[in-house]
Amino acid sequence: MFTDSHAHLDDARFAAGRDALVQRAWDAGVRRILTIGNGTGPDDMGCGLPIAQSHEWIFTSVGIHPHDAAKAEDRHFELMERLAEHPKVLAIGETGLDYHYDYSPRDVQREVFRRQLDVAARTNLPVIIHTREADEDTEKILQAAAPLRGVIHCFTSGPRLAEVALGLGFMISFSGIVTFPKAGILAEIARSVPADRILVETDCPYLAPVPFRGKRNEPAFVMETARFLADNRGISLEQLARETSENFTRLFSPRETA
Ligand SMILES: [Zn+2]
Ligand SMILES: [Zn+2]
Repeated sequence: MFTDSHAHLDDARFAAGRDALVQRAWDAGVRRILTIGNGTGPDDMGCGLPIAQSHEWIFTSVGIHPHDAAKAEDRHFELMERLAEHPKVLAIGETGLDYHYDYSPRDVQREVFRRQLDVAARTNLPVIIHTREADEDTEKILQAAAPLRGVIHCFTSGPRLAEVALGLGFMISFSGIVTFPKAGILAEIARSVPADRILVETDCPYLAPVPFRGKRNEPAFVMETARFLADNRGISLEQLARETSENFTRLFSPRETA
């Protein structure tokens, strides 16, 4: 059983044929998908709910992507907290910092990130972190907000942020990027993440793993990244699938511990 810990099933590219895509994932052995609730912007953060409500094994999150931070208003944090009560909402996010694209001013990104960590703390939900070319600030903000549970998704940062995140109790999730031949140090980091802290994801429709690189990605392809990670760590595909699925359950289910 595979778990795709991060997908964007609401994406317009999936609008035609979403049911077939979900069926292909099931047929490929995917037994859980977390579809991210960012949508087209803060007004749309509930985008994953209709999909999650129509499939028992699909779950969602609510959050404001750093790209959209400049569009965030107070009412969006209220909406987030309200939607977070829904039983199919398992996390806050993705939220974080993206200094590669800088679609929103950096100080606004930091503020909107911090406010979402507050929501995560108040709702006792884990947080899904997006960080790109912002290792230092991500580290600072996470340290200040600890203790929190969560995952650094689509990990592409350096070894230092991996170490800090693991030290804070976070999980690390790898996407198809780790399968790219030039990934280098990333494969090394992936090898060093403890077995009880690793997750795997597609981040579809983006970032299809080898051998589908350049195509539209989808949850059924999660096994290619899983296969790479298993080989990279010297374990069977089955074991990697089991570890990442158990980790997903541990991270995303224990609401009762509030
Ligand atoms: Zn992301
Ligand atoms: Zn994403």
